[in-house]
Amino acid sequence: MQDEFAGMPPKLYAASPSRLLALVDCPRRYRMQYLDRPRPEQRPQRAHTSFGLAVHNALRDWWDLPRDRRTASAGRELVRESWIDVGFRDPEQSAQWRRRAQEHVTAYLAGVDPDDHPTGIERTVSFVSGALRVTGRIDRLDDRDGELVVVDYKTSQKPLGETDARTSLPMALYAAAVWKMFRRPCLRVELHHVTSGEVVEHTHTPESLTRKVDEAKSIARDAQRADADYAERGVESTLFPPVVGPLCTWCDFRAHCPEGQTAGPEKSGWAALEPTEVPRAVEVG
Ligand code: SF4
Repeated sequence: MQDEFAGMPPKLYAASPSRLLALVDCPRRYRMQYLDRPRPEQRPQRAHTSFGLAVHNALRDWWDLPRDRRTASAGRELVRESWIDVGFRDPEQSAQWRRRAQEHVTAYLAGVDPDDHPTGIERTVSFVSGALRVTGRIDRLDDRDGELVVVDYKTSQKPLGETDARTSLPMALYAAAVWKMFRRPCLRVELHHVTSGEVVEHTHTPESLTRKVDEAKSIARDAQRADADYAERGVESTLFPPVVGPLCTWCDFRAHCPEGQTAGPEKSGWAALEPTEVPRAVEVG
């Protein structure tokens, strides 16, 4: 029997960049989010998530407008249509942030050429490397005079730095996926901070992309081991320890995690609307 399977490729482990990072951030949260079934109930959506989703949806839908309506000011109406009134302190705060989203989107779109249609919008990309299949969705893929560029919209209140683009595992994996799918090099990644209009970019080298793919494969091996142990032992598995820290005050699953509840009081649903040190795992997009 063993001979029959000799030479067969290893079983693929399929994961999104978010799933891989969830394991790195906190194995207990990873277990609750991806393995426990029925899945423990998450806390209700936070206001900054509503804000981020509305901005992302408006920027996506703008490209579906007929050319003569694809103006910067059209972004205002698109935000209004896609507004999600969830997680805010009260209707007044929701209205205030809807206006802000409208201003940010309108200002951002004023710098976008409406005739320069992206190569991809919210495009699903995927690639296989060794035993790992990575699948994810990129906000925008541009073709700038033959150069493919991965664009990710950011809506956090805190400013971004070059490190954010350079060290982002998801962005590097998206670039690798685009390279494989389009059979053309894709090295440049850009974070478009819609709330400030700032663009933070990084151009990878083939070597730096390979390092990121190797990092993802290493996390995936840990995840595969942990998943297999969970399949055997369920919640008795010791491979999902809680990582108690600042993330716990934001965690969607803390109601089911006694250890995490010791980390401090839970952040309010609208806490991330203020400029603050919000952990990366809490951000949208
Ligand atoms: S509350 Fe903290 S320790 Fe518990 S699952 Fe969430 S992040 Fe992990």
